[in-house]
Amino acid sequence: MSEEAQGLLFVAWVVSIAACFALGRYNRQPLASLIAGVLLGPVGLLFVFFSNGRCPHCTGALPFGAKVCPTCHKDLPPA
Ligand SMILES: [Zn+2]
Repeated sequence: MSEEAQGLLFVAWVVSIAACFALGRYNRQPLASLIAGVLLGPVGLLFVFFSNGRCPHCTGALPFGAKVCPTCHKDLPPA
């Protein structure tokens, strides 16, 4: 692998970690999302992007950006 490609991969990895953390705040799994970003880089970002959050009341799956839990119908705290 050339140095340019390594540099590009490094930048993509760092951006992925930051994006994972930002997305993780919205799907309420900031730590798991951060770990996915660190370990998997851009692949982890895809994983986080398509994963659902969990309701803090009933642990039901939440659609991305949900404000009310579709399972227990309780309001969700702002991310
Ligand atoms: Zn719920």
